[in-house]
This record gives sequence, structure tokens and C-alpha cells, in this order.
Amino acid sequence: MARKDFYKTLGVSKDATEDEIKRAYRKLARKYHPDVNPGDKASEEKFKEISEAHEVLTDKEKRAQYDQFGDSPFGGGGQQSWGGGGYNAGGFDFGDIFGNIFGQGGGQPRGPRKGADLEYELEVSFTEAILGAQKEISVRRNASCASCGGSGHEPSGGGQRCPQCQGSGRVSMKLGPMTSQQPCPSCGGTGRAQGPTCKGCGGSGKTPKSERLRVKIPPGVETGSKVRIAGKGEGGAAGDGDMLIRIKVAPDSRFSRQGNDIVAEVEVPLADALLGGHTLVPTLTEQVKMKIPAGTQNGQRFRIKGKGVPGKGDLFASIKVKVPKNLSAKAKETLESLRDELKG
Ligand SMILES: [Zn+2]
Ligand SMILES: [Zn+2]
Repeated sequence: MARKDFYKTLGVSKDATEDEIKRAYRKLARKYHPDVNPGDKASEEKFKEISEAHEVLTDKEKRAQYDQFGDSPFGGGGQQSWGGGGYNAGGFDFGDIFGNIFGQGGGQPRGPRKGADLEYELEVSFTEAILGAQKEISVRRNASCASCGGSGHEPSGGGQRCPQCQGSGRVSMKLGPMTSQQPCPSCGGTGRAQGPTCKGCGGSGKTPKSERLRVKIPPGVETGSKVRIAGKGEGGAAGDGDMLIRIKVAPDSRFSRQGNDIVAEVEVPLADALLGGHTLVPTLTEQVKMKIPAGTQNGQRFRIKGKGVPGKGDLFASIKVKVPKNLSAKAKETLESLRDELKG
């Protein structure tokens, strides 16, 4: 059996630093690189070996696994190839062999898991988005079964040590020449034997549930904002996931939004713009009387404090000067006499 000692392959000690490993690799790679030794099978094999060793020993996680498992997952396989034959000379490509065998990079939780999060799209009015609101929605979801808590097994009758894993919650799985530890399929990683199949859910651990949920929309949400309701998602053996409420804000013909501020277009008669006057500005809660100073320009903005997102934003009245279309002969005559003066 050809055992692989990656440290020996690179000629470094077991406690070599990453720098030392890289240096050793570079030195050997220059010697055995296929471009330097075209057609030389032995060099090509050697290059594969040192690339493999370099790949494993310069990756903290892989090196730790290699140190822990020793030769067993790596060696002993005779012809098993880490590169699957598809290596390229620049950077040796392992594919995902470590990720697959050692469980998605090693970060997966053991044992029972929480259910998945669910999403619900909720349309709110412009005013509700700015000011916040309380809403109620009806949802249908597969909640954790109330009788078994999502395990799928009767709570009575279980509890003693799982016979398959002897209570450890882990079992060894042989994958070709390698062995890896997996959560015990019989007890789901809990280490405790389970009772008979739950009558409430038939073993699925879930029961369909229709319920009404109260959603508190905070002030200032925008389309795409998410509100999380804990424990109202899909059922799971370690509890229900969450419900994510995805907000969609309906447009409002009177207002537009700029961050925490809102903008209202306000039409003002030409005479008021020229001579000054008053107008009513709509806000989300009431109409506000506003003074129009003489000489107000088209597109000019006036701030009305505190009428945007509560505590954060204002409302801007954006002036649109209304130009009269049909003037009487008398008005035309008067304005004509002022033409030069009105050129501003
Ligand atoms: Zn059940
Ligand atoms: Zn078990």
C-alpha cells in the first residue's frame, strides 16, 4: 500500500510553517514542473504528488484534518487520485473532494436541525412604509408536529442509548478508501434511541398549519426590507425556522421617496408664485398650510420639518408653477403692458 506522507513529499518537518512549506514546494515545483520535463511520466507523477501535498498543507483546515486523520483518509488507496486526473500544472485542482467528504468545509451543525425559513411578500401602502404599521397575514406552513416536537417519533418509549451509535450520535462511513464521521441516521445525531413513529404526523415531524400572524412594520421600510418573525417558518426537529416578511411598498400618486424624506409636488398658481400667497401641502397625516414667498421659482423646494420618516426625515414641497392657458382679452392686454417687466 502506497502511503502518503505529505511532509516527507515536500521534505519538511511536521511542524513546518506555512512559509517553509511554500518555499519547499516552489523549489520542488521548479524541478518537476511538466513544462520543464516534457513527456517525463515520472516527473509528472512527482509534480502531482508535491502539488497535492502543497495544497493540503497550506490550507489550515485541510492540514488540521490531515494531521488528525493521519494517513487513513489520504493514503492506502493505491491509485486514488486527489486530482481526478484533471490537474493543471499551474494550480493543482482538487475539486471539492475535501468539502464533500468532510461535510461542506466542516462548519455544519451536528444532530437535529431547525426548519427552513419561509418568505412571504407583503404589500404595504406608502404611508404604512413611512410611518410603520401593524398588519395581519394568513399563512399556511408545515409546522413542527405538536405531539412529537418535530422528531417524528413518539416521545414515550425512547430515550435510552441509541443501539447503532452506542450513544455517540456519530457513525463511521466508509467512502472508498476513506472513512468519515457522519451524524447517526438512526437517532439523528442525538445519541438517544427514538420511540415508535409518531401517530400525529406519521413520522414526518411536521403538520400543516394555517394561522394568522401579526406583523409589526417598523417606520421607514422600503421595498426589499425584511421583517423576521421568529419560529414561524418550516418545522424541524430542533424547532421551526423563521418567517421572513419581504416588504413591497405600493406607489402613492401624491408622494415620492428620497431616503427618509418624502417629496410632494405642489401646484401653485402663477400669480401666487409672482406675488406670494399661501397653499395647502399634503402630508401623510394632514394638510399643512404653507406660505409661498413672492418670486417663488418653478421646481423650488420648501422643507416641512418632521413630516418624513418619524424622527428621521422631512417632507419637501416641490413647487410646480401653474401657467394659465386661457387668458381673457383684458388679462392679455394687462400682461402685454408688463411684458418687459415680467422678463425678470
Ligand atoms: Zn409527530
Ligand atoms: Zn445513534
